Amino acid sequence: MAQELDPIVRIRELERDRVNFVLENVDLSVANSFRRVMMADLPTVAIDMVEIEANTTVLPDEFIAHRLGMVPLVSANCDEAMRYTRDCSCLEGCRFCSVILTLHVSCQESITLDITSNHLELGAMDDGMDEEGDELSKRPNNFGMPVGKNDPGVAPVLICKIRKGQELKVKCIAKKGIAKEHAKWSPCSAVAFEYDPHNRLRHTTYWYETDIKSEWPLSENAKEEQPVRDDELFDYNAKPNKYYMDVETDGSLGAQEVVMKGLQELQAKLANLILGLKAPEPTAEDEMIPPPPSNMGGPPPTSAWGGATTQWSGAGSGAASWGTSPGAPAGWGSPARAAGWGSPAAGQWGASPSAAAGGWGDTSGWKV
Ligand SMILES: [Zn+2]
Repeated sequence: MAQELDPIVRIRELERDRVNFVLENVDLSVANSFRRVMMADLPTVAIDMVEIEANTTVLPDEFIAHRLGMVPLVSANCDEAMRYTRDCSCLEGCRFCSVILTLHVSCQESITLDITSNHLELGAMDDGMDEEGDELSKRPNNFGMPVGKNDPGVAPVLICKIRKGQELKVKCIAKKGIAKEHAKWSPCSAVAFEYDPHNRLRHTTYWYETDIKSEWPLSENAKEEQPVRDDELFDYNAKPNKYYMDVETDGSLGAQEVVMKGLQELQAKLANLILGLKAPEPTAEDEMIPPPPSNMGGPPPTSAWGGATTQWSGAGSGAASWGTSPGAPAGWGSPARAAGWGSPAAGQWGASPSAAAGGWGDTSGWKV
């Protein structure tokens, strides 16, 4: 008898920046959408523009700008506490849509000095805006600061090493964004995802030399499910129902916030889809206008959803697709953004489909 069951979430481990849980009674497509939303659709703050005032280090400007862009910044409640620059009424950035970080380090002694994310200081935004907004009151005190700054338990991010007589002075402008635009905005460093550890559904075909069981050891999650008996018949109607997820963040958002905001975002996306599919109610004005001839329909409307999907699938052709996102000014204006080339994180996203699979988990049953 088919039985309707509500989704269940069972948390197995919860830490500040990591959560391991089991999701049950949802379709595979829902579980996978949830995974993708957590990785690529949650807004965070990251350095997007770098003005270099002095750089006598051994690293070129764009190299340093790229490294600064990848530094995780505290982004708690970012979806409500900050505006996208494109949605803001300011001309060139203001306190509602930008965070200023400055860094000025010089070495006077005969030592090798590490410039790290701990040297980044929050700067004041002189925007002359008199507009009211409640975004600022929704920010924690350390909003926009590098993750783990002045916390002895967290190692800072190394930006550059300098010797006597060398100096680095920069002004960074951090903005709100999502990882579909650039991987630096992803709150997640890894999202592991597994289902059907015994391969009962035969969604995976294992390659092996002599003995499949010894060459493909079972994961820890296999203890949660009954092994397949040798005399068991294959049920080709069976569907996966239990998903093992492990979400690890870079600290910009907490693990709990990533999961909760991920669910909210997925819900909002589906609500928008439903709204978009609904036929509009005809108004009195519409009834007076005759419908246009069918051969003059014009191009189909492109929704924000469709555009984003196109951009995302383009990532498969190489890291370059991140650097050419619409609206990204080329050249020195936005080195942090343009520097998506060759970055380790961008490499994970931009690699060929099979390599991307390796990026997010091992090959034994992890789903891309
Ligand atoms: Zn603004």
